[in-house]
Amino acid sequence: MYRMRSWSVRNARWLKRVYAGVEAVLVPLDPLLRRIGYERLDKPFAAVERMTKGVLLDSQNCGQCIVGFTGLACPMNCPKRLRNGPCGGVRPDGSCEVKPDMTCVWVLAWEGNKRFRENGYPIQTVQPAVDNRLIGKSAWLREVRHRAELKRGSAREV
Ligand code: SF4
Repeated sequence: MYRMRSWSVRNARWLKRVYAGVEAVLVPLDPLLRRIGYERLDKPFAAVERMTKGVLLDSQNCGQCIVGFTGLACPMNCPKRLRNGPCGGVRPDGSCEVKPDMTCVWVLAWEGNKRFRENGYPIQTVQPAVDNRLIGKSAWLREVRHRAELKRGSAREV
């Protein structure tokens, strides 16, 4: 799957749109998802995510996906699991200091950010540290739940 990493980064723009589209379809389904139970749905959703993102992004399924910020490069492929930019050891040719046979995740992340062609660079958003409790869970479902909660909250405020 390593080869797919650079393919995803090269195609970061439309892949990010597809990713956002999936979330946009799922958020309105929140009443149904709540009725079934988010906890109950986590395993099947996580399995689909593992398969699709695993193949397309070489995703390591941290359950708190930030590839929309990192140019579709999964930061969990960094041997140091850095989520806010590279260590000081990136080699002059852009390869990783720990695994010289792979391109530094953050070199790919910057390339993907440029391909987004957005105003500004999402990579500049500061990310929280990895929450180990979420590893292996569905990041999609978590994000959908979060957005639906925000939507319900703002609807109540009106
Ligand atoms: S060179 Fe890049 S991928 Fe390798 S450990 Fe440092 S930040 Fe992570």
